[in-house]
Amino acid sequence: MMSITRRTILKMFGGVAAGSIISPLPWKLIADGTIWTQNWSWMARTLRGPISTKFTTCTLCPEGCGVRVRMVGENPVSVWAQQNHPVSRGTICPIGLGAAQLRFHPARIERAIQRNGSGRGNAWTPIATETAIAETGKILAELRASGKCDGLAVLDLRPGRAISDLYTDFLKLAGGGQYLTIPSGRDLSGTVFKEMADDLAGAPGYDLLHSRMILSFGAPLYDGWTGAGPVPELALRLTGIRAGNPPGVIQVEPNQSPTAAKAGRWLAIKPGTETTLALGLAHVILDEELYNKDAGPAVLDLEDGPQPGFRSYVRHFTPQRVSDITGLAPQVIAQTARDLAHQQPSIAIGAGDAGGGPLGSGEEAAIWGLNCLLNGLGRRGSILTRPALPASVGKDSALKHPWTLEPRSIWDLPDESIHLLIADGANPGFAWPKQLLERKLAPSARIVCLTPFLSGIAEMADLLLPTPAPGEWLEDIPPQILAMKNTYGLAPSINPAPSFALHPGTILANIAIAAGLQPPGASGDEAVERRIQDRIEALYNSGRGGIFDPAATEIKPSNELRDAEELRAILNRGGCWIDQAEPVPVTSFRFFGKEGRMRPAIECVTNGRLELLTVSEKEYPLILMPHGSSGIAGGGAVPPVLTKLHRESNLRPFPAQAQINPATGRKLGLKNRSSGELSTPAGSLQVWILFNESVMPGVVRVATGPDPVSLGDLKSGKGPDILQLCAITERSVRRVSRAALRMI
Ligand code: SF4
Repeated sequence: MMSITRRTILKMFGGVAAGSIISPLPWKLIADGTIWTQNWSWMARTLRGPISTKFTTCTLCPEGCGVRVRMVGENPVSVWAQQNHPVSRGTICPIGLGAAQLRFHPARIERAIQRNGSGRGNAWTPIATETAIAETGKILAELRASGKCDGLAVLDLRPGRAISDLYTDFLKLAGGGQYLTIPSGRDLSGTVFKEMADDLAGAPGYDLLHSRMILSFGAPLYDGWTGAGPVPELALRLTGIRAGNPPGVIQVEPNQSPTAAKAGRWLAIKPGTETTLALGLAHVILDEELYNKDAGPAVLDLEDGPQPGFRSYVRHFTPQRVSDITGLAPQVIAQTARDLAHQQPSIAIGAGDAGGGPLGSGEEAAIWGLNCLLNGLGRRGSILTRPALPASVGKDSALKHPWTLEPRSIWDLPDESIHLLIADGANPGFAWPKQLLERKLAPSARIVCLTPFLSGIAEMADLLLPTPAPGEWLEDIPPQILAMKNTYGLAPSINPAPSFALHPGTILANIAIAAGLQPPGASGDEAVERRIQDRIEALYNSGRGGIFDPAATEIKPSNELRDAEELRAILNRGGCWIDQAEPVPVTSFRFFGKEGRMRPAIECVTNGRLELLTVSEKEYPLILMPHGSSGIAGGGAVPPVLTKLHRESNLRPFPAQAQINPATGRKLGLKNRSSGELSTPAGSLQVWILFNESVMPGVVRVATGPDPVSLGDLKSGKGPDILQLCAITERSVRRVSRAALRMI
């Protein structure tokens, strides 16, 4: 009998190893296994097809950057910046870069869904689209039958688009109702300007490109603050002018934000004291007679009239008084005023930011007054007044269509007045307090949201109807608020919408039919197409401006085009119309507005916005300041690749992180990186305490977004909403609130 020794076993293993190398079987098994595991049904497949490039415009936020899309067959696979585009000049933001992925976002809605119960926190359940539309039509019919058509509202978060015309047409067909929007900080700034300017047939715009000095009241210039277009040129310019003495950019902000860190000078004012500082700067400029005597006084009411003149009003804002309120040294205030006056043209800008929200009417009025004193209006490098766009004439009516159908601010509505709210799901690019919208809803109100994603306003809705994602339908991009020049672009569909997605115009038409109404003419893409054609013809017929063609290097004057069809063709291939019209003159600019209507808004904040809060400082020793970046602050879907970047890089703070100065944290007995409870009189939230040297002592900073749903994490729900805790002091102004923070 053969004995098995260690030597035998080693020989056997050696033989097997040698045999395996010679035999084809194991190699075949490895190869087959590899192929097999790469072909599981759930694995992503590499797309096959001809590779091509399409030029278009990004519609993920209102900025309208020019983009170049790489296509494989009919599928967009990557998005890049379009060189020389007049709005974006070869740059796009990280959200735009990931745009090709958005149609696969986990928050994409692939069928109609409704809330399980009456509460807005409940889970979703599918519903047949026809049933959802029929039920909405029934509510509309009941409102009409009971004479409560005013209880119908359409909320358009990006008014001025061709689809916006369809919303107003729907309301006309329904026989009433409210066309609403949620104003951004820029909207509020523009509204205040119009209240101060007499007979302005246009809109104000910042000419940041040609300013020698920019005084920014908290605008995140280096951190995704766009909309003053052309943005990248501005970024280059800011980089070029921020160094030196005097500095090119002065940032006025309590915390050392990325913009404050990069600016040539950072003025760390106490929270909520922007109005006082702007008036204090005007005081020095007037006192030392540093203003442009040919420009400012020509329009600004410097001397007393029915209302106190600007000169006598700012007389009380001496550097010492302003220093006591803002915390800045009197010499710094005086020097900043002198620098602004000597570095002509200079410009002061407000408009708030995407997370912190609007500055407030008083702040904006003081900033506009300072600008007007420095430079007057319509001067290169300062405040320009863009003319209105040429009105279009509808093909099927003799009526002129103005471009911007002025929606009403939702904050102006009486509480509990909305019974049926139809909301457009476009990402406005900024955060807004949801609790204010809740207040406007009647107890049994229903929110129907037309949206591709389950994020943003969709998280508040009762019923969601899926619409095409950006890039799957034809959209247009009107000029931005406070932009230097009027522009107009198109975003044609670059890949077909999936069968479950219905065009918002088609949904509206079907709701109207379900309510027993007869919508006239075309709906959906065809109706949008006609509106866009009207607009293009109006642009062409005006002979104004020029057209940028991605295929050419120069902007071609519009009056050299053959016809409107040529203009349309260039826009369709990713071009952009840009106005060259001169600024319209403003004959009179009143600091207190028409009939002194701005006076209460200004006077209530001259000692700082914190004065408006009646909360005990002892009980709430901190000042809560929300903040956020454009595009991600307000709940817009974030491309999946960026969700990974957000979670792993910590480049951006999350809404649950309460950032506090280490000295303040230690004084309050808090520990860095610990769980805490942030509370205000409006409620409390569980947060993660983070010490951060860049936060002003006494302040707690919390980001408004991105929330987990925007990042594609549907299981975690919408996450903490910091704006629920904020004190609203004027419409949606919530930059400062009293708060307390403790460890739990
Ligand atoms: S998301 Fe907005 S800023 Fe970003 S690329 Fe698109 S349009 Fe431009």
